[in-house]
Amino acid sequence: MKAVDYDLVIIGGGPAGLTAAIYAARARLKVVILEKSAPGGQILVTDWIENYPGFPEGLAGADLVEKMTAQARRFGAEIEINQVISLDVAGKIKRLTLNDRVITAKAVIIGTGASPRKLGVSGEEAFYGKGISTCATCDAPFFRNSVVAAVGGGDTAVQESLFLTRFAKKVYLIHRRDQLRATRILQERASENDKIEIIWDSVVTSVNGSDAGVQGITVKNVKTGEAKDLAVDGCFIWVGVLPNTAFLKDAVALDPGGFVVVNSKMETSVPGVYAAGDVRNTPLRQVATAVGDSAIAAFEAAAYIEAME
Ligand SMILES: Cc1cc2nc3c(=O)[nH]c(=O)nc-3n(C[C@H](O)[C@H](O)[C@H](O)COP(=O)(O)OP(=O)(O)OC[C@H]3O[C@@H](n4cnc5c(N)ncnc54)[C@H](O)[C@@H]3O)c2cc1C
Repeated sequence: MKAVDYDLVIIGGGPAGLTAAIYAARARLKVVILEKSAPGGQILVTDWIENYPGFPEGLAGADLVEKMTAQARRFGAEIEINQVISLDVAGKIKRLTLNDRVITAKAVIIGTGASPRKLGVSGEEAFYGKGISTCATCDAPFFRNSVVAAVGGGDTAVQESLFLTRFAKKVYLIHRRDQLRATRILQERASENDKIEIIWDSVVTSVNGSDAGVQGITVKNVKTGEAKDLAVDGCFIWVGVLPNTAFLKDAVALDPGGFVVVNSKMETSVPGVYAAGDVRNTPLRQVATAVGDSAIAAFEAAAYIEAME
């Protein structure tokens, strides 16, 4: 076979990419992670992680990144800051176009994650990770006995709001329409829950606070135009997630939401190309699931490469 640059290229240096690199490097593959900004992905913006096993007191997202990165490097994985612009994976040798050159590999793991859709309102950037969250599973326990806002009206927003009521004393559910989009049973549960107050026909226009964090939100009624301030300690936003798959174009099959379709071996529609973590079609987007997916993806990629040789 023609010489290739790498056995395996991993796109994305979040928990999925870093885990895949640990497994691949320990399998003695020549492996590189291509990360467009800084290794760590979404956990870099996560203050404190309490639900990742092995750290009973929890740990800062940045510390977990440091540990995972050191572990990947220890076994010989390369980490390069570079963006994958496009890929041609139709042939046996995969070609990846980066910012500055084209590289080749025998197999590819896509671990480019997903980005929570934002509201685009003032205060949102400043308080992201400091009172604004997109993950109740991760952050609800920080809001014990607090008043929080939840934004959205779909299944995720309602389900996560119900989860929030286990911790918060009150949840304002802000929805821009006069009816929730969530399935009927979730709607019923929300309306029966004394801790949830639905603010109908309303959008958040700003998130307000100080150095201490979020202290309130301003909402506007889209029918009357009336604006009002609500005092809250936190604001959860569930207006959808966007997979980071635009660069893939039609290289592999995507589901209607744009997430990469994989089977239980993390194989995509193209032999030798795998996907793991938040970027794939999955019911739960967490560090633990990203790590599990990637162990499988790297194991399968190693077997694929061995069979090629
Ligand atoms: C505020 C917040 C709090 C959270 N708290 C928790 C928690 O407490 N516990 C928990 O388990 N989970 C938590 N999560 C979820 C968790 O962070 C994600 O599930 C996890 O990071 C997914 O890992 P990933 O590697 O699949 O994707 P990501 O972490 O999204 O990493 C993907 C990486 O790919 C890179 N990338 C994208 N496109 C390209 C490209 N074309 N070329 C090169 N690189 C590219 C990105 O820059 C990024 O670094 C939280 C998420 C957020 C946003």
